Amino acid sequence: MGDQGAEHAVVLGAGMAGLLVAGVLADSFERVTVVDRDELDGPVGLQPRRGVPQGRHAHALLAGGLRVIEELLPGATDDLVAGGAAVGDVLDDVRFCANGHALKQAPTGLSAIALSRPFLESYVRSRVAALPKVTLRGGHDVVGIDVNDARTRVVGARVQRRIEGSEAEPIPADLVVDATGYGSRTPRRLAEWGYEPPAQERLVVDIGYASRHYRLGRESLGGDLAIIIGPTLAHPRGGVIQVQEQGRAIVTLFGVLGDHPPVDDAGFEAFAATLPLPFVADAIRGATALDEAVLYRHPGSTRLRYDRLRRFPGGLLVIGDALCSFNPMYGQGMTVAALEAAKARDAYGDAPRFFREVRPLVDAPWQVATGGDLMFPAVQGPRPAMLRLVNRYLSRLHAAAAHDPVLSEAFIRVTNLVAPPQSLLRPALAMRVLRG
Ligand SMILES: Cc1cc2nc3c(=O)[nH]c(=O)nc-3n(C[C@H](O)[C@H](O)[C@H](O)COP(=O)(O)OP(=O)(O)OC[C@H]3O[C@@H](n4cnc5c(N)ncnc54)[C@H](O)[C@@H]3O)c2cc1C
Repeated sequence: MGDQGAEHAVVLGAGMAGLLVAGVLADSFERVTVVDRDELDGPVGLQPRRGVPQGRHAHALLAGGLRVIEELLPGATDDLVAGGAAVGDVLDDVRFCANGHALKQAPTGLSAIALSRPFLESYVRSRVAALPKVTLRGGHDVVGIDVNDARTRVVGARVQRRIEGSEAEPIPADLVVDATGYGSRTPRRLAEWGYEPPAQERLVVDIGYASRHYRLGRESLGGDLAIIIGPTLAHPRGGVIQVQEQGRAIVTLFGVLGDHPPVDDAGFEAFAATLPLPFVADAIRGATALDEAVLYRHPGSTRLRYDRLRRFPGGLLVIGDALCSFNPMYGQGMTVAALEAAKARDAYGDAPRFFREVRPLVDAPWQVATGGDLMFPAVQGPRPAMLRLVNRYLSRLHAAAAHDPVLSEAFIRVTNLVAPPQSLLRPALAMRVLRG
């Protein structure tokens, strides 16, 4: 399909991936319809949606993601700040702790933004909904995707209003984008149409997230926007405290391999006290909690290898968590979704090209997440000698980065998806690691 005749695109799912790709497709399609089971006409605000239960937990938007969102929706950062988000530097204003070391804070020139996931998503939704070519249809279940008789091309989607007695309704489309998240049914549908489903790569870490809000401002975090404490081998638990809108801070605690944080007051605070470093426990001691903690369990990282399929129907793309869902501990999902959405601009009608072009965008964060998880001996997965070597190198790098701002910046650029993981192996950095 060329630019001519690109009339109607239907995006299934109005999460971050679906909204951002809808905004991109509005440049080349006459009409873009976004369908979601949740009602979508609420105001920009703080309420998490049922369809996005992870919205109750801390969401970091990496520098790479903020950059793309700003490109796609110019002025977004200023608007978000006006609505109560806080901005700063990704390293100078964020205390990042890895392998038990607080990395040396220093300016990097990369922006970090601290805000709640519902606020970010509802802001992006309001911007995309304001585009004249975009229509949001909330309150509809996606119940099917239609193919032509020869099953070579997707020709639309079927949706059903979430009201008893409603009937399924076809929505014809030149392009359907599956952005329904981790539970995507595209692999099953491909099999029903006679296609090979994508191979699945999976690393199970059985992570449990518990989160609640406190009445705390930036001053309680020593002036930082967020404090992030990663797990260590000796203490495989982690936590985040991040300032948000309306004078609140969210505290998210997590544990891997079934060691999940409790949600009762005493258990939550006791778990915080067992993190590798005391910063989160110190910040919440004596602070006023604003709600009850809620738990979310996530299996780990799952990647569907659509890029390796030899046959795929025309008129269909898969994006966001439906394509690859990462262990949330690394904070990558929204940023990768934004990077993928930007790629849909050139490759919207050509699925093989789209999957080929997003492959390197997924490779690097996949390497970061799975490489980090394989540090834990109980996580099942291949550990080539190179990976063991790299993990040993990284633990030395983290120790040295506690004092060396060149190393802490290099590491933070990789975790923020603005530099590739291999950049950490540059000889000049390796020398500093060895000396450190
Ligand atoms: C606990 C947790 C913490 C996380 N923390 C971070 C973080 O710090 N930083 C970060 O960048 N990412 C984080 N992520 C990942 C991030 O939430 C996602 O990667 C990101 O939101 C992109 O998801 P998506 O839009 O592809 O899917 P989703 O956000 O899951 O959206 C899918 C949408 O599809 C709709 N839908 C699904 N099925 C249907 C259907 N049949 N009919 C109609 N509608 C349907 C749902 O209602 C939903 O709105 C975290 C994830 C979890 C689980």
